[in-house]
Order: sequence, then C-alpha cells, then structure tokens
Amino acid sequence: MRYIEPHAHMVSRTTADYEKIAQVGCEALCEPAFWAGYDRASAQGFYDYYRQLTEYEPARAAKFGIKHFCWLCINPKEAEDAVFAREVMSLIPDFIKKPNVLGIGEIGLNKNTRNELAIFEEHVDLAKKFNLPILIHTPHLEDKLKGTRLILDALNNADVDRDRVIIDHVEEHTAPLVLDQGYWAGMTLYPESKCSPARAIDILETFGMERIWMNAACDWGISDPLAVIKCALEMKKRKHSSEVVDQVIFENPKAFLSQCPNFSL
Ligand SMILES: [Zn+2]
Repeated sequence: MRYIEPHAHMVSRTTADYEKIAQVGCEALCEPAFWAGYDRASAQGFYDYYRQLTEYEPARAAKFGIKHFCWLCINPKEAEDAVFAREVMSLIPDFIKKPNVLGIGEIGLNKNTRNELAIFEEHVDLAKKFNLPILIHTPHLEDKLKGTRLILDALNNADVDRDRVIIDHVEEHTAPLVLDQGYWAGMTLYPESKCSPARAIDILETFGMERIWMNAACDWGISDPLAVIKCALEMKKRKHSSEVVDQVIFENPKAFLSQCPNFSL
C-alpha cells in the first residue's frame, strides 16, 4: 500500500523508524512544529529546531525515498508567555522560504487560555499574510470540545479559506463540528489516548471518507510510527475496498497538501 503520513514528529524518532515506514509504503511525511517534551530556554532553541525541520530531517528521510515536509509555528504549550511567543514567531518568515515548508502549524490551544488564544490568532494572521494553509492542534481529553469551539470561533472571525485549514486530533464529538463548517479533519491514532484504529474507522463510517485524514503523530511519547498502515489493514478487515483505503491514506492527504505551494510527490 502507498500512503502519506501527514503528521509525525520525526525529530523524536530513530532513523530505523524512517526505514520501517518506507518499507510499508510511506511516500511522503509531514512534520508540524511542536513541543519537544520540554520548554525551550530561548528563541534560539526554536531557531535550531526550525533548522532541524527544514534541513536535517528532509535529508534523513530522503535516504529512504521519503519526501519530508514541515509546518512552522510556536506550539500552544510554549505560547503562554506571549512576549516569548512573538519573539519566536519573528523567526518564521525567514524559514517560510525553505523548500519543504507547507504552512503554519500545528497551532492551536492546550489549556484554552487567553494568551494561547491571542497567539493562535496572530499565527492565523501570519498564515493569511503569506497565503499559507494552516494545521491546527486541538486540546486533549476534557479540554477538547471547548477548545475546538474556541478555535472555530476564532477562525470564523478571521475569515479564513476553510478548504486550506485542517483541524487535527478530532474525535467522535468534534469531527462533525469541524466537517460541517467546511474544514478538513485529522484523526490521530495513538496506542493509549486519542483514537484507536477501531474508533477511527467508526468515525470514518459515521461521517464519511471526504476531507479527512489519519496520522500517527508519533513523537517522544508512547506512539506508533506504523499506526496509519495498521489502521488501513483494519479497514480492509472490515471489507473496505482498496480504493476507499487508498482514498483515506493517500488521496485525501494528497488533495489537501497539494494546496501548499511547496508540496509535490
Ligand atoms: Zn503533533
């Protein structure tokens, strides 16, 4: 099977993980900027991280025939200090020129605070200024529904092009909110929290196979770089056709990502 991994944090993974996903058909991989498992001490820490995302990881992926793309931002977990967040954001325009940058992400909310929301809105403005798509992280567990609503309100106020915004980590209760308003939705497959493959397929069967993708979001936590392909096998066990599986794991991400000027296969 061929597939695109639309959300993976490879800076936290080994080179052997690139080899494994190449062996099961991964053709392209997208890496949103996120929290590193610790707070950076200075904006310089983000400068180095953006270099890693735009220089080192594409070269590491290319050794296995995988095209590597990235999204840039300061994640909501580290955006609570708005002065610091703005200092980091001032680095982004220089990196937007790099050939593997797709857009602004993964921005969003973590604890749904006022500062997080202000920095979220400033990222949306940055994306609009540079005419780039947006990838959005929604909070986990009990904060998810409220956070998703706050994000949708902010996007509505900003009058974004909804075809070019994907809202990630949706679950049963947030998928319809996102899809009904004309955005794309992402589902994250995690061994512990978030969606299991069975839940993800239930969501696909309930809300349809359009404007939705699945990702592993593998990072430094307990996560599985092969989650997407394992879920595709589960879809086949449930008698979904090869065409439908290909649509979800390859054609859908390709359709959304093709709106990014730098994306190509
Ligand atoms: Zn992520």
